[in-house]
Amino acid sequence: MHGVAAARGVRDTSRAGRYHNRRFLAIADELGLDHSEEPHPSSGFSLVGLRPDTKKRYRATIDRLHRALKAHTVATTADTARSFRGPAARHGSSGGGVRVKAVCDCGRNVRVVPSVLAQAPIMCGACGQAFRIPEVVGAGVG
Ligand SMILES: [Zn+2]
Repeated sequence: MHGVAAARGVRDTSRAGRYHNRRFLAIADELGLDHSEEPHPSSGFSLVGLRPDTKKRYRATIDRLHRALKAHTVATTADTARSFRGPAARHGSSGGGVRVKAVCDCGRNVRVVPSVLAQAPIMCGACGQAFRIPEVVGAGVG
């Protein structure tokens, strides 16, 4: 859906991607999706679903996607260290795994492999507290 919009250079959302506008709705219609008549106050027309005839037409594709998703989930949940991809993960890989920044409340920070930190806390010698990996924010939804 958003892929179609992106390919055409159409802005199908507003309010930082939260509100799904009428251009989004037009693409939904074109792809054979059902939608509510009135927009949701904050997310707009994001609640779209397959029309019964559309579902029938894409049954084989949907089944294939489900199988692929299942395989993907199995493959990615097997290795949690690999699925962790913070902003710092793109740089500084040195063999033993991707290191990310871990911080302490006193302001010090170190670079650690998440799986190593998960094994046991790494203590800060200055204040005695454990280093922790800050939560990654700003992952878009929709
Ligand atoms: Zn400290």
